[in-house]
Amino acid sequence: MSKTSLCAPNLRTSLAGLARESVHCGLNQGASGNVSVRSREGFLITPSGQDMAALTAADMVAMAMSGEVLDSGRPSSEWRFHRDIYTAFPEAEAVVHAHSPFAVALACLRRDIPSFHYMVAMAGGVNIRCAPYATFGTQALSDAVIAALQDRRACLMANHGLLAWGRSLPAALALAREVEALCGQYLRACQVGEPVLLSAAEMQEVLEKFKDYGSQA
Ligand code: 13P
Ligand code: ZN
Repeated sequence: MSKTSLCAPNLRTSLAGLARESVHCGLNQGASGNVSVRSREGFLITPSGQDMAALTAADMVAMAMSGEVLDSGRPSSEWRFHRDIYTAFPEAEAVVHAHSPFAVALACLRRDIPSFHYMVAMAGGVNIRCAPYATFGTQALSDAVIAALQDRRACLMANHGLLAWGRSLPAALALAREVEALCGQYLRACQVGEPVLLSAAEMQEVLEKFKDYGSQA
């Protein structure tokens, strides 16, 4: 089956553009990270082990929710957690995974991002969890990630990186960038002292306001 007979061509173009953008905005480098988008057949995902900055529409790999590869190319080794996110969260339309510098640093400390800043609520809750470590590309990693994502749209992955899902490709990328920014801000604050955390009530107020704030509305 030819690539063009599967998935809308513009979806392949949009996904390849997002993969390249994830490098240009500093989230990824080399073959690090992967991105996907939900499709009629299942989902489209970036190929495994290739330079994210050089990907084109023809490189994108179509998969069924069963895990079957529907066209040529080898899908990202992380297709399991992309697939499992689409299954677990019906609102998820796109997933961004990155090895961005500050997220990796915090993930190597295996720390959740606490309520040190109100923007933590952008991921859907009072904190952003760090999933326990599991080898890349395994079902164990996917299971750990799905647990960390309960009631959240983003998480860290121990000794690995970050992950965000969104209701669109731009929304998933925007949240991934926000999480990376928060990691940098939290690490800097920790260098000077113990950040003062917002209370559960203060975070609840922010979560309420975010229900109709900007693109999250
Ligand atoms: P892939 O090139 O197979 O997508 O792997 C990159 C990665 O980030 C693994 O976690
Ligand atoms: Zn990775």
